[in-house]
Amino acid sequence: MSRVYNFSAGPAVLPEEVLKEAQAEMLDYRGTGMSVMEMSHRSKAFDEIISQTEADLRELMQIPDNYKVLFMQGGASLQFAMIPMNFMKHKKADYIVTGQWAKKAYQEACKYGTANKIATSEDKTFSYIPDCSDLPVSEDADYVYICENNTIYGTKFKELPNTKGKDLIADVSSCFLSEPVDVSKYAMIYGGVQKNIGPAGMVIGIIREDLISEDVMPGTPTMMQYKTYADNNSMYNTPNCYCIYMCGKVFQWIKRMGGLEAMKLHNEKKAAILYDFLDQSKMFSGTVVKEDRSLMNVPFVTGDQDLDAKFVAESKAAGFENLKGHRTVGGMRASIYNAMPMEGVEKLVAFMKKFEEENL
Ligand code: PMP
Repeated sequence: MSRVYNFSAGPAVLPEEVLKEAQAEMLDYRGTGMSVMEMSHRSKAFDEIISQTEADLRELMQIPDNYKVLFMQGGASLQFAMIPMNFMKHKKADYIVTGQWAKKAYQEACKYGTANKIATSEDKTFSYIPDCSDLPVSEDADYVYICENNTIYGTKFKELPNTKGKDLIADVSSCFLSEPVDVSKYAMIYGGVQKNIGPAGMVIGIIREDLISEDVMPGTPTMMQYKTYADNNSMYNTPNCYCIYMCGKVFQWIKRMGGLEAMKLHNEKKAAILYDFLDQSKMFSGTVVKEDRSLMNVPFVTGDQDLDAKFVAESKAAGFENLKGHRTVGGMRASIYNAMPMEGVEKLVAFMKKFEEENL
């Protein structure tokens, strides 16, 4: 068996330890005689899994007691609609558009009320985070929305926007659990788990309790109301049981690694290896303003499309998978989530150096 270094933006690399544990428990989960895929979500064994998973996430992120943790399906994209349907009480919300995913969320919100684009970095292909210290936040905005880490463009908010007292909602799909976070600064944090946390097919929402109510947009389907999940411990219907189980294993892995402080240090060290190389390379360059660089998604180019394609093909042959940039931007992108080992980035940089020597 040989495993590649997988730089996919998501679904993405998972810790090998976690995959091996899941493999060992596949046929007989802890004496139940069945796999987690096969057991009732109402069983005692699964109840323990979901409770422990939530408890571990609460511990890792130090989630205050007045926040609910919800496990939902439909991907991060369904949240683009659920957020306005549940929270646009005054039919107004402000959006900071720093990439494709924020733009999609903004466009979806426009269907349900007035969504104001109060800042954007679209003028320079989303290569920076706009100054958000003094934004024209609407007086009657129900919330301010950001995508905290922009998976496609490789930018990250290093400081949260000044929302002038309005509730902040953040899509953290591509930076979930990559560093410590002060949950109390947000009204809602949510993300698809398929990047830093587990297999595809689930979103985790962390929502301040007072925001969750029956007062939603008329006609909002039961399964699109946060209250349905909150009142039923995310088990109004059958949840994505196996995904919850896998996420729980990743949470325990992060705890063994030393928690989010340790994860941050590890991620900073790992990203620096790649960024330092890009900064001195004569062939490759990063595409993002330095101070806004993401620790998770690192886009880069050679400046020549043919050379980019050659690099992607040769890197693949050498065991580095999924380095092709997003279809909308081209070039390359290395996603180096929590589970990407240091060694993967070191070897990638060594390969890039060799490629540069041979092709310059
Ligand atoms: N938000 C961000 C930041 C993303 O990176 C993605 C997917 N790559 C999405 C939302 C959409 O996620 P999903 O495919 O789970 O709907």
